[in-house]
Amino acid sequence: MKFEEYRISSDIKRSLAEKGFKKPTDIQYKAIPNILKGEDVLAIAQTGTGKTAAFAIPVINILHSNPPSRFTKGSVRALVMVPTHELAQQIAEVFKEIAKYTKLRILALFGSTDQDPQIAAFQKGVDILVTTPGRMFDLRSQGYIDFSGTEFLILDEADRMLDMGFYKDIEDVLRYLPKKRQTLYFSATIDEKIKKLAYSIVKNPIRIQISPDDPISKNISHSVVLVEMDDKRFFLERFINQNADKKLVVFVRTKVRADRVVAAMERVGIKTESIHSGKTHLERKDTMRRLKSGELMVLIATDVSARGVDIPNVDFVINYDLPEEAENYVHRIGRTGRGMQKGKALSFCSTEEKPMLDAIEDYIGHSIATQKLADMDYQETLIFSDADQKTFKDVFKEIAEFEKLNLKKKKK
Ligand code: ADP
Ligand code: MG
Repeated sequence: MKFEEYRISSDIKRSLAEKGFKKPTDIQYKAIPNILKGEDVLAIAQTGTGKTAAFAIPVINILHSNPPSRFTKGSVRALVMVPTHELAQQIAEVFKEIAKYTKLRILALFGSTDQDPQIAAFQKGVDILVTTPGRMFDLRSQGYIDFSGTEFLILDEADRMLDMGFYKDIEDVLRYLPKKRQTLYFSATIDEKIKKLAYSIVKNPIRIQISPDDPISKNISHSVVLVEMDDKRFFLERFINQNADKKLVVFVRTKVRADRVVAAMERVGIKTESIHSGKTHLERKDTMRRLKSGELMVLIATDVSARGVDIPNVDFVINYDLPEEAENYVHRIGRTGRGMQKGKALSFCSTEEKPMLDAIEDYIGHSIATQKLADMDYQETLIFSDADQKTFKDVFKEIAEFEKLNLKKKKK
């Protein structure tokens, strides 16, 4: 069935056609009718399978078809909660595109930006608020936001939002929201504990799960290569040089390591940028813009960018370090192979990271193809690194000087 044939507003069909969305993806096909019917939904589908539009289309349709008689100050009709700035911005953008021919007011809200324009937006009330928890609580406690008439609560990356770090926030939000509302959960991963939590918040949600046996998108081919910790930067350098025209996202364990990798690549003439929680909102925004446009081809990222971020045409994801939380393997490699595209992922695993690899394989339910580089190939990578060539030059210089010295000695 095409979007053309859906019982949704022609204003939405028009923007979907402009976006090039003709047919729903599997998750959209299953979730949209249930949401339109007013059901609570818990939806699990692989990365890059169009979960955003799966909730945005029906929510926009419902809000657009039933405009309120008047807006009250600070009112929010749909509250979408996400874990990061980038996601708040991106998801609000998708809502805006799909709602382009409606009058719905959509606002992205997150911290470390000027709050005045955000307060001004609330004066008139908003239809759809896409937010991370922090700033939203701030503005609410200052009396700028009123959730008493909110019709939808949507948790994207739901398992993350219900996990320890955010659960207290969600509990608080639930206290402000009306009991009678529609609740939607979307994620690529969920475990039993979180599922129970989700069920405890709403009764009998419709549960939709696409391809439950494999959490990894079928568009992604992924493998592991055994590389020792100290050698990783040489392998990354070689990989980037061999794939100079490709777009890469490289995940590392900490922000300090992210900046170190950027510096190491700079030393061998490779331009990269890092994104992590230590960067300002503006820096993160600029880096993402350059990566999206293709001006930047290699991003070094921590797990803040693992979830949900939709960057066009990422050819490879490299796990420079394995993720500490097994489910993040799924989210990280899910930055490639989005929509109809194919993607590849390669993980560098050192001897000390083997237990993490085991945990990941346990989590995804199957083993990952492992390449063991032949000794020759491994040595070659180390020798042909630009960084090493520099020290090689030094060594040659030393040898030359040594020989000169010897020559002099002999002459005597
Ligand atoms: P998810 O949240 O499942 O990881 P997104 O919602 O970010 O995935 O969508 C992934 C990509 O697929 C986006 O670039 C989006 O524009 C594209 N997409 C979504 N739905 C469709 C569709 N029906 N037809 C074509 N492309 C789509
Ligand atoms: Mg998503």
